[in-house]
Amino acid sequence: MRVTVDPGRCDGYGNCVMTVPDVFDLDDEGRAVVVEDEVEPGRADVLRAVVACPYTAISTHED
Ligand code: SF4
Repeated sequence: MRVTVDPGRCDGYGNCVMTVPDVFDLDDEGRAVVVEDEVEPGRADVLRAVVACPYTAISTHED
């Protein structure tokens, strides 16, 4: 499963980083970046981060 963050929608806060620190990090401007963009299909903590993002900035794509 591929994970992406839309930098135009992300407004920081870092909920995703706190939820899944091995997949998300914050860059120097405080926006989320994906540090591990291929994760196991249906990975629950990543899907929780998708739902928890207040700006719907995180997307997942099944290859
Ligand atoms: S939860 Fe959403 S808005 Fe917050 S840092 Fe992550 S991607 Fe950005």
